[in-house]
Amino acid sequence: MTALRKNTFTELPRFFAESPVYGPFNSRRYGPSLGINLSSLKEKACSMNCVFCEAGPTNIRLKEMKASSLPTPENIVEKLRIKIEHSLRTEKVQLPIHFSGAGEPTLHPYFDEIVDAVINLRNTVTPDSPIRVFTNGTFFDQRKVISSLNRVDERIVKVDCGRDSTMKSLNRPLKRFTTAKLSSGCRLLKNCITQSLFVKGPASNLSDDEIELWIELIGIIKPLYSQIYSIERQPSEPFVVEATEDELEMVAAKLRKRTGIECRVFI
Ligand code: SF4
Repeated sequence: MTALRKNTFTELPRFFAESPVYGPFNSRRYGPSLGINLSSLKEKACSMNCVFCEAGPTNIRLKEMKASSLPTPENIVEKLRIKIEHSLRTEKVQLPIHFSGAGEPTLHPYFDEIVDAVINLRNTVTPDSPIRVFTNGTFFDQRKVISSLNRVDERIVKVDCGRDSTMKSLNRPLKRFTTAKLSSGCRLLKNCITQSLFVKGPASNLSDDEIELWIELIGIIKPLYSQIYSIERQPSEPFVVEATEDELEMVAAKLRKRTGIECRVFI
């Protein structure tokens, strides 16, 4: 299978400091989309501090984070309605709605309320727009998070490696988290798609044994399909080296051969 071509527009809008709702932007994997950023507008709010994060380092510890600094459900719905109405009016398209942006959406204390409000709005004004959540899985131990994720159309879960020590050096979780917790959380989801980012350098997940352990974990999770890719913008740490297209194709071929799971490469 040949790699899916990268979109012409690879720049994420400089949305973080402007509004919790951004776009339309051209997603590498899904094309033109609207995004919802549940982080604070001033700082990335995440439960990980990945070396390759394209939104910069995670500076705020979870315990220090103030709920009052995060966007409110009302604020999100109001801004999203404006964006949807604008794209319906100007481009006559019903765009996908993505919970992504800078950080981990499920850490928002009102994530479940926001999901319901966004589903209601979508059903009313743009019924053909799929709603997707991109998550790192660190809050899968909360039942409310699992049930909210199961109400949207697609759940895309980050699975970058199959070894806990690699997760520590690559994803640098800021709360206790393991690959076992990740896979058992995935089993509570209706179904999921996995997304995996491969890089080289001092914190690499591209060695033969790393790939083998990752394949094992993906085989346990059994996603609908697996998405793999490498960095496309400036990573948080300068030592991170991009994986080549050939390396990604090699990983994809191994996964398909060992598990029969479909794997899509994005470059
Ligand atoms: S989980 Fe995503 S947003 Fe959080 S640090 Fe990693 S790449 Fe960045």
